[in-house]
Amino acid sequence: MQTFATPRSEASSEPGAAPSLESTPVTELRGIGPGIAAKLAAMGIETVLDLLLHLPMRYEDRTRVHPIGDLNAGDTAFTCGRIEGTEVRRRSLLVTIGDGTGTMAMRLFHFKENQRRQLRQDRRIACYGEVRPSPDGIEMVHPEYRLLDEAQVPAADCLTPVYPASAGLGQTLLRRSIDQALDRLERSSEIAELLPAGIAARHRLLGLGDALRAIHHPAAGTDPQAPLRPEHPARRRLAFEELLAHHLALRVRRRRLDGLQAAALDRGDALARRFVDSLPFRLTAAQRRVAREVRADLARTRPMHRLVQGDVGAGKTVIAALAAVAAVANERQVALMAPTELLAEQHYTSFHRWLAPLGIAVVWLSGRLGRRERTRATAGIAGGEAAVAVGTHALFQSRVDFADLGLVIVDEQHRFGVEQRLALRGKGERGGLRPHQLIMTATPIPRTLAMTAYADLDTSTIDELPPGRTPVDTAVTPSQRRPEIVARIRRACAGGEQAYWVCTAIEESEALAGRAAEDTARELAETLPELRIGLVHGRMPPADKEAAMAAFTEARLDVLVATTVIEVGVDVPNASLMIIENAERLGLAQLHQLRGRVGRGAKRSACVMMYDGPLTETARSRLEVLRATTDGFEIARRDLEIRGPGEILGTRQTGLAQLRIADLVRDFPLLPGIELAATELLAAHESRIAPLIRRWIGTGSEYGQV
Ligand code: ADP
Ligand code: MG
Repeated sequence: MQTFATPRSEASSEPGAAPSLESTPVTELRGIGPGIAAKLAAMGIETVLDLLLHLPMRYEDRTRVHPIGDLNAGDTAFTCGRIEGTEVRRRSLLVTIGDGTGTMAMRLFHFKENQRRQLRQDRRIACYGEVRPSPDGIEMVHPEYRLLDEAQVPAADCLTPVYPASAGLGQTLLRRSIDQALDRLERSSEIAELLPAGIAARHRLLGLGDALRAIHHPAAGTDPQAPLRPEHPARRRLAFEELLAHHLALRVRRRRLDGLQAAALDRGDALARRFVDSLPFRLTAAQRRVAREVRADLARTRPMHRLVQGDVGAGKTVIAALAAVAAVANERQVALMAPTELLAEQHYTSFHRWLAPLGIAVVWLSGRLGRRERTRATAGIAGGEAAVAVGTHALFQSRVDFADLGLVIVDEQHRFGVEQRLALRGKGERGGLRPHQLIMTATPIPRTLAMTAYADLDTSTIDELPPGRTPVDTAVTPSQRRPEIVARIRRACAGGEQAYWVCTAIEESEALAGRAAEDTARELAETLPELRIGLVHGRMPPADKEAAMAAFTEARLDVLVATTVIEVGVDVPNASLMIIENAERLGLAQLHQLRGRVGRGAKRSACVMMYDGPLTETARSRLEVLRATTDGFEIARRDLEIRGPGEILGTRQTGLAQLRIADLVRDFPLLPGIELAATELLAAHESRIAPLIRRWIGTGSEYGQV
């Protein structure tokens, strides 16, 4: 396998090469033995640098001492006084504290004998906690407290960080350990500054050390909320470097991929033309443009890595089929992977219908095939007689040997993380040649995000729907109006139309949603005895699921009650009514996908989103977005605006592996700068790239391999 050129050494002192906090294990700090180290490791903290990157989740202000006389019930405050008395009253320890302006009680329900002995009259004490009313005035229940020496200044000189903790790893230990790490940072330059000065200056970024100090110990007088905001200079600096590292990992990946070889699939225009001519429709201009982009990639001797985005119903399948035809015309095989059996079967049906007349053999690899059939299918794939194989990802992950795989097509990529995406690339290498790769997604990814999070892919967008689609009328309705909706289904189905009824659960639980769907199906069957009602959910045996789908597709059912399993790909043009129960529980992207199941035929279609009120302000504006537009990109943009980290852009779907500090949505404004910075590093600071990736991603994952 070819790799990219060895990095040029930039200067004599290679950053990251010196002994540094990045390679110092936490056990070198005082008070961290193997036991605590194991607990830290469980939180992903192994080195001193990991500890420094473990950022506070909030801050407490103990920089000012509040006089007891000023305290009010409900305040969370830091105060200091002298113990005036101690008593045990109804099993709890009551310590009276006074400071000349007033008195308050500290109440401990649990205490040890030596604690009681230490809390002697006249000792100075500082407390941090919530002030509550008590029969005698005010009190704090189990505050954080500290006994003070006579001369000791109680106020802290910076905000007190509160860290994400875990059982056996309390705040005191974390604070003490992180303080030690900061001390080491202070004493030596043990942490390499990896951002070139030019980039730091252009983006007005703090130095790494300054940023770390500022985020762990914000100066007295700082608003405790401020360091939590994305625009805080310290947080911004760290997020920038993290996003840069991830983006660089993908760019490096991409550069390496570009060095690989693939078979040029450059013949077969005649077959492609025959295929297009055989279709019952004309390709849209957008489809033709994307098809050209794909064809140009396939004709090269380096593997294609292209993401085809297109809204639900934009017609991505035909693009995939065109690519498959090109591969087959060049005597190469094609693997098409879908996330579910249902979708795989639909693809198999389309491909078989389109390609069999051209003499192209398509096989279906289903989990349900009997052993004999499966053996026959895999033998055909291994022998090369099967030109195109369609199945789920799971099926391709088990051993399927291709005689000569030239193209891998992945549908609905957004359901898979970056790791799976990259793992696929190892497959199908033969004689130093890699298969081409085409990925299809209906998740609209804003351009800026695509450039950052999918930097290892080229992207094409089908930004036009086939003609003749009737826009879907969308209504948002409280669940009390269910009887009207049921009546509407009765009318529509009496007229020969079909309807979906989608049930959801509070949590993302297919089991709960499945039960809700069963109940609804039963209920609808009672109220609508003249209609044929079917049911499909994820926990049904695959055979029953497919039987129900087939019955609906062939119009032997009027209503299909379902969970969100039907979200992806299902194509029944005669269905014109979509009812979604508890729409407020679903994300915008998911709702958009569901709605995309109707409006596929010539009939006027409708989508009714029911909700259980009252709706929150956010939920209301989200549903309103769906009512107002059917454009997937516009919906993605609004989703981003309304609620930040969302269904569309959550880490689950963005393609980037776990981020520690940055958040793609919150830190969205940083992205253009990150792209430029990465370009500059790749051009002029090669030696900093590997240490940056190592620092933020590690080498444990495929993704972090440099
Ligand atoms: P998606 O992009 O959501 O995967 P599909 O590929 O399933 O969409 O296409 C949706 C429907 O539109 C299918 O029935 C398909 O045959 C049809 N279709 C695709 N392209 C066109 C076109 N150019 N004109 C008319 N219908 C088309
Ligand atoms: Mg599709």
